[in-house]
Amino acid sequence: MSCRPVVIQNPDGTTTTGIVCGPSHRLTRQPCSVPGCFEGAGYLCDYPLAGQARTCDAPLCRHHRRPIRKDRDYCAHHFEAAMRGE
Ligand SMILES: [Zn+2]
Ligand SMILES: [Zn+2]
Repeated sequence: MSCRPVVIQNPDGTTTTGIVCGPSHRLTRQPCSVPGCFEGAGYLCDYPLAGQARTCDAPLCRHHRRPIRKDRDYCAHHFEAAMRGE
């Protein structure tokens, strides 16, 4: 997930500043992090690392991502952790 400020031009000439947050993983062009897989990774693991202000960010291809919900994917390791309730 990445957030960026956006300035929206209103029809009346004023501007509105907002924050747009979205998945950053569509932008990656890294190889998949799964050993032996050479698929290009279009996704990143979004699992929040405990005590850190970042996510796992393991690059994942479309075969190895584990969709949690819309725009959220976990790597296999973190998917299992999430299923165990961690
Ligand atoms: Zn893969
Ligand atoms: Zn992960």
